[in-house]
Amino acid sequence: MIKNMTQIDTLVVGGGQAGVAMSEHLSRQNIPHLVLEKNQIAQAWRDVRWDSLVANGPAWHDRFPGMEFAYTEADGFMPKEEVADYFQAYAEKFDLPIRTGVEVNRVIKNAERSGFRVETSEGVIEAQRIVSATGAFQIPTIPTIAPKDPELYQIHSANYRNPEQLPEGGVLVVGAGSSGVQIADELQRSGKEVYLSVGPHDRPPRSYRGRDFVWWLGVLGLWEASANEPGKEHVTIAVSGAYGGQTIDFRRLAAQGLHLVGRTESFADDIAYFRHDLGDNIRGGDENYLSLLDKADEYIARNGLDLPPEPQAREFLSDPQCMTEPTLELNLKQQHIRTIIWATGFTSDYSWLQVDALDEEQQPKHQRGVSSEAGVYFLGLPWLSRRGSTFIWGVWHDAKYIADQIVIQRQYQQYRRQN
Ligand SMILES: Cc1cc2nc3c(=O)[nH]c(=O)nc-3n(C[C@H](O)[C@H](O)[C@H](O)COP(=O)(O)OP(=O)(O)OC[C@H]3O[C@@H](n4cnc5c(N)ncnc54)[C@H](O)[C@@H]3O)c2cc1C
Repeated sequence: MIKNMTQIDTLVVGGGQAGVAMSEHLSRQNIPHLVLEKNQIAQAWRDVRWDSLVANGPAWHDRFPGMEFAYTEADGFMPKEEVADYFQAYAEKFDLPIRTGVEVNRVIKNAERSGFRVETSEGVIEAQRIVSATGAFQIPTIPTIAPKDPELYQIHSANYRNPEQLPEGGVLVVGAGSSGVQIADELQRSGKEVYLSVGPHDRPPRSYRGRDFVWWLGVLGLWEASANEPGKEHVTIAVSGAYGGQTIDFRRLAAQGLHLVGRTESFADDIAYFRHDLGDNIRGGDENYLSLLDKADEYIARNGLDLPPEPQAREFLSDPQCMTEPTLELNLKQQHIRTIIWATGFTSDYSWLQVDALDEEQQPKHQRGVSSEAGVYFLGLPWLSRRGSTFIWGVWHDAKYIADQIVIQRQYQQYRRQN
C-alpha cells in the first residue's frame, strides 16, 4: 500500500512537466489525485539532456502561466537545470500531491467494476482514472543500420553530455533535428571533425522582424495546428536557443567547417553510405523557413504592425560544396571517425499499461488524450491535440482539457435518478 492510501480518484503516472501540469489542473478542479514519479520531478530535464542545453524557446514563452522564471531576462533561453528547478518550484508553489521514487509497474482494469488496479514499487492502489504522463521521449531509438564495430563509440543523443566524453577523433552525428544539429555544432566548435547527416526538416527563423518565431507561430495560429501538413507528419524541427538563440542555417554550419551529408542509409566494411538527398533536404528546410517569413510579412501588412523590415533574412549563403558535390560514401576508419551519435529520436514504453488503450503497435489510441479505454488518458504526446502538445506551454493547455473531461465523466458517474 502506498503510504496511508489504498484508493484515489485519479492517478497520474509521471512527474515531468506533463504530470505537474495535470496535477495543477486536477487541484484547481478539486479532484482527489496523486502523481507517482519513479525518479524526481522533471528529472528528464536534469539527467537526460546534454550539459550545455538551454530551452529552445525564450523564458517568457517556455513556461506555465502560473509562474515566471525567477532569474532571467524574459527573452533569454533557460539552461536545462533551471528548467528542472522551475518545475520543482512550481509543484511546491501549488502544493501538488506528487510522490517521487515510486514506480508504476502495472495498471489493469478491474473486472466487472469500474476503476483500475495499480501495482507500484510501494504496493497496490485503486484508481478510478489513470493519466499517463510518461512522455514521448522515454526510450532512445537507434536504427538497426547501426554498425556492429566494437571499436566505434556509439551513443544516443540522450546519453551525450559534452565533447570531453568522446574519444579522440572525428564524429558522425546522425539526425539534424534540434538535438543533432546542436550537438554537432558544439562538437565542431570544440575542435572535432564532425559529419552531420541531414534528413528532411523544418527550420523556422529564430526571430524575424523583431519577434521570436515562437511569437510568430502563436499569432499565426500555427502552434494550434492539429496536424502537420500531409507528408510532413514526422518531419523534425531544427531550432536552438544556444549561443543566445540563432537560426539553424546549414550553409552557415558548412562554412563554419561542419561536413554535411544526406540521410544515412547503411554501413558496410568501415564505410557509411548516405542518400543523395542533402540538397533536397536543405532546400525543403529553406522553403519552410521562407514560408514563415511570407506569412509573417502578410500578417504585418494586414494588421498594420510597426515591425522593422528585415530583407537580409531572405539572403542565403551560396550552396557549399557538400551540397553541390555531396559525399555519398565515407570511410570511417580512413577519416578517423571514432564516434557515432544517434540523434534519431525516442519511442514510448507502455508495457505497464495493460488496458484497452493501445493499438497493435502499442501506441495510444486516443482523441485529444481521451483514450479508447474509459478512464484512461494520455498527455505529452506529439500532436496530442496540436503542434504545441509536447512543448512546455502546450502540455499545460492539454492538461486543462483532460481535467475538464475528467470533471464531465465524474458528473456522469455521480448521477443518480431522483425518482
Ligand atoms: C533534448 C530535448 C530538448 C527539449 N527542449 C525543449 C524545449 O526547449 N522546450 C520545450 O517546450 N520542450 C522541449 N522538449 C520537449 C519536452 O518539453 C521535454 O521532452 C519534456 O521533458 C517532456 O515532458 P513530459 O512530462 O511529457 O515527459 P518527461 O519529462 O519524460 O517526464 C515523464 C516522467 O515520467 C516518469 N515515468 C515514466 N514511467 C514511469 C512509471 N512507470 N512510473 C512512474 N513514473 C514514470 C519518468 O521518470 C519521467 O520523469 C525537449 C525534448 C528533448 C528530448
